[in-house]
Amino acid sequence: MSDVFADLVGQDEAVDTLRRAAASAAAQLRAAAAGPAAAAEPDERDADAGGEPTGPGRDPGAGMTHAWIFTGPPGSGRSVAARAFAAALQCVHGTGCGACPGCHTTMTGTHADVRLVVPDGLSIGVNDMRALVLRAASTPSGGRWQVVIIEDADRLTEAAGNALLKAIEEPPPRTVFLLCAPSTHPDDISVTIRSRCRVVPLRQPAAAAVAEVLVRRDGIAPDVAGWAAAAAQGHVGRARRLARDPEARQRRDAVLAVPRRLTGVGAAFDAASALIEAAEAEAAASVTEVDETERAALQTALGGGGTGRGAAGALRGAAGQLKDLEKRQKSRATRAQRDALDRALVDLAGFYRDALTMALRAPVAPVHTDTAALAAAGAQKWDAEGALRRLEAVLECRAAIEANVKPRIAVEAMMLALWKG
Ligand SMILES: [Zn+2]
Repeated sequence: MSDVFADLVGQDEAVDTLRRAAASAAAQLRAAAAGPAAAAEPDERDADAGGEPTGPGRDPGAGMTHAWIFTGPPGSGRSVAARAFAAALQCVHGTGCGACPGCHTTMTGTHADVRLVVPDGLSIGVNDMRALVLRAASTPSGGRWQVVIIEDADRLTEAAGNALLKAIEEPPPRTVFLLCAPSTHPDDISVTIRSRCRVVPLRQPAAAAVAEVLVRRDGIAPDVAGWAAAAAQGHVGRARRLARDPEARQRRDAVLAVPRRLTGVGAAFDAASALIEAAEAEAAASVTEVDETERAALQTALGGGGTGRGAAGALRGAAGQLKDLEKRQKSRATRAQRDALDRALVDLAGFYRDALTMALRAPVAPVHTDTAALAAAGAQKWDAEGALRRLEAVLECRAAIEANVKPRIAVEAMMLALWKG
């Protein structure tokens, strides 16, 4: 029987921290339920009431707190960790057993006291955050905790961050905030929010650990799982997609064909266009269906074209709502394009990293086993320095796009640098 933390791949330390916090949170609830007299000795009650053994060497900083930040590279499982912890908090046994209604509804996203914020645009706005903070302050209907999970907390606008900070500074007694961000760098999360939260760092899981979970949980054949785990460079979700989705594999093949295609200036610009267009197509495929569903739902809600009294006013309001929706959808499409392009750049960086480690004769396994021969040929032609310059060109392109340089310009500059070496 696997509990809610089973899918957190290669994160033993973080899981240990979260288990102890969940046990401590459960002890707090039991103490509160037993009344003020019993609340005086929560630690003993915790130790013999089941759950995790805490022991005398218990770390005083390992208990429960109301605001957490999960950090780690993309794909390391930040949101998986946050959701698992939320389930453990709602678990009727206080452990995250994976079987009780509290665990089950949290993991399937239907628990009434767990709110998940997934920004689908480039940032989370202040109005969304205020509404969320307000709802999070209410008494938990299930009698345990109100949990708010904010995925990509680095995409909060400054105003939204301030609204959140206020809630974290004066937390309602039963509310827990779980933030996910790439790091605790001030670019990702404000220093003041960071100072109010406990940080749970996740590491990039080893390829072997990722392969193991693909085999065990998703039933993927071991050889395919091994290849996909290495190619995905520690990104669990990406590894699963590569193992299962032929289109994702084709897109990756096209990206890894780039180094072969760079035979001149014209070819470099062609390769740049192809990469950008592929990212646009991938993004469009991922958002079009949702866009249309949302639009249809809004039009139905607005009642289509009415006549009669008040229809003109309603129409004006409807136009505003449609405009809002279009703005949100455009922002989401931009984000999806950038994410798709970034995945392609990570694959490309993996190729040049392989060439570099081969040129250096470093004893590490290649990222892309299927293009290892090509990387070896590159290593011979370019030497370590040439391979490193190319790897840097790819990483600079990622950084430039992150810093809001127009993707096409950044990618063209990169392709030229890759061609010239
Ligand atoms: Zn449970």
